[in-house]
Amino acid sequence: MIRQLAYLADSLTTEFEAQLVQATPLPDGQFEVLLTHSYFYPTSGGQQHDTGTLNGVPVLEVTKDDAGNAIHRVAGPVGGPLVRGQIDAARRFANMQHHSAQHILSAAVTEVLGLETLSAHISAETPSTIDVADTPLDWAELERAEQRANAIVFENRPVKVYFVDDSRTDTVPFRRPPKVSGEIRVVEIDGWDYSACGGTHVAQTGSVGLIKIVRTERKNQKLRLHFVAGRQALDHFRRVQRVAIDISNHFSANPEDVVALAAQQSEALKLAQKELKRLQAELLPLEAQKLAATAQPVGRMRFATAQFGNRPAGDLRELGRLLQSEADLVAVLAGLDDSQKLSLVVSCGQATGMAARELLTRLLSPVGGRGGGDAGLAQGGATATSGQVSQLLAGARNLILAD
Ligand SMILES: [Zn+2]
Repeated sequence: MIRQLAYLADSLTTEFEAQLVQATPLPDGQFEVLLTHSYFYPTSGGQQHDTGTLNGVPVLEVTKDDAGNAIHRVAGPVGGPLVRGQIDAARRFANMQHHSAQHILSAAVTEVLGLETLSAHISAETPSTIDVADTPLDWAELERAEQRANAIVFENRPVKVYFVDDSRTDTVPFRRPPKVSGEIRVVEIDGWDYSACGGTHVAQTGSVGLIKIVRTERKNQKLRLHFVAGRQALDHFRRVQRVAIDISNHFSANPEDVVALAAQQSEALKLAQKELKRLQAELLPLEAQKLAATAQPVGRMRFATAQFGNRPAGDLRELGRLLQSEADLVAVLAGLDDSQKLSLVVSCGQATGMAARELLTRLLSPVGGRGGGDAGLAQGGATATSGQVSQLLAGARNLILAD
């Protein structure tokens, strides 16, 4: 007898023929198709559904109905009564690799770390996961469990699938007690793990290829282990290797030396930035002197303006502070960065009789800017174009004259 869920007895078949039982049209033009039997895996037990085609029509999703039959949601009418099913074999195989890997790894995590798997998720596209009780684990501990799991893979143990009646479950040393009743499907990783499971599995553990934990995460008060197997493990290795090669090329060094080199360089950069800051602090008084020397007489005062590109607002403020000591000088300093952010500083010497804050407010009002300060020194900002900044600086002289 072929079961309706035919993969339960045979997970390797990816092409089959069946008779159409029912095709239910959906409002969006898709159909829900029930067949006499199907090798398509419906999403269940933490494993994602298969994809593929029925009579050439894409299968978008497979679910289990209340009676436990596979229901295929397909993109359009499939015809019949004979239906040819074709399962995406690469995706199926990746799911098989990850599901067998999950059983092997869960048993290893129990044996090595004493942690039960509370739930699991099998995915061919993203890392698969197992959740265990929230426990602080370091990488050395995880690697011990990973090492044990891979030893089981390399031993190439047979993976056996068989059925036992729920009255005889005491004859099987299950890792977790079965949650279902009646006939129970046992997936046995020969002598290593016994699980009540409806999933698709490889025939020999060697087909898993490799099991690698790639990261851990705390989620819902549990510890989630993300792992990859098979081709996904190879893909992961390639990505990580690519990064390692790119970085070591950048440093012209061996990958093993890169971390120490990066630490050295960031330390050197910190020192250089500190030194730069010190030198800039020494240079600012000289720059202030030069600026003061460019000042032009306006009535009984002198007036200086300067425009800068990407210059820290703190620099402008310090320049303004230094210029303030020139008793007869009014200075207007403007900095405009690449994102059109204007920083404006106004300084007024004691003998000028001008109020820096008031002058700043009047200068910024055409560009809708604002700022603060006192009679001697004021600073503000706005968004402005370089044309507006030139206009603002040119107008500053007239504002002083009119005062
Ligand atoms: Zn399972």
